[in-house]
Amino acid sequence: MSLRPAGACLAFRLLGTPVWLHWSFAGVGLGIGVPVGLVGLVAAGEIAMTLFAGAVAAVATVVLVHEAGHVLMARLLSIEVHGVYLAAAGGCCVAGEAGHESHELLYSAGGLLAQTVLLAGTALWLLNGGSATQPMASHAVAVFTAVNALLLAVNAWPAGGSDGERVLHALRELRQRP
Ligand SMILES: [Zn+2]
Repeated sequence: MSLRPAGACLAFRLLGTPVWLHWSFAGVGLGIGVPVGLVGLVAAGEIAMTLFAGAVAAVATVVLVHEAGHVLMARLLSIEVHGVYLAAAGGCCVAGEAGHESHELLYSAGGLLAQTVLLAGTALWLLNGGSATQPMASHAVAVFTAVNALLLAVNAWPAGGSDGERVLHALRELRQRP
């Protein structure tokens, strides 16, 4: 049985993990990139395009890091990873059943943990004077940090089958059956 999703996908392997890249992934950040670009247009026309491109690139990077977090956690817990699907709606890690609720908890939290580590890293860099020595890079890192924080909140929001909801569900199961 092949778990490869239907539709036009570019299939390849990244560090042994099958990745299915849907053509629509190029537009993954439009939901954030367009409003951010419009804000830039109102504030100062010349930075609108930079902000737009930066936000789109940031969303794509954050989605990749998030899915890598799931894959890494699955590998650590010996959960079978069928592949990672990337499309405009975001990423999705397709994996087998976790043997225990604690494993399900860690696997579900893997993406959020990866984003949190990244968020702490870029925020520390900004706070520790990275902005003083490299003002251009600090703008990019600031946009990246804001996009990551926003997506982290969206993913952690416990509703609609999100990672946050899966984590809470696994926690509840653990409390009932230790
Ligand atoms: Zn996730």
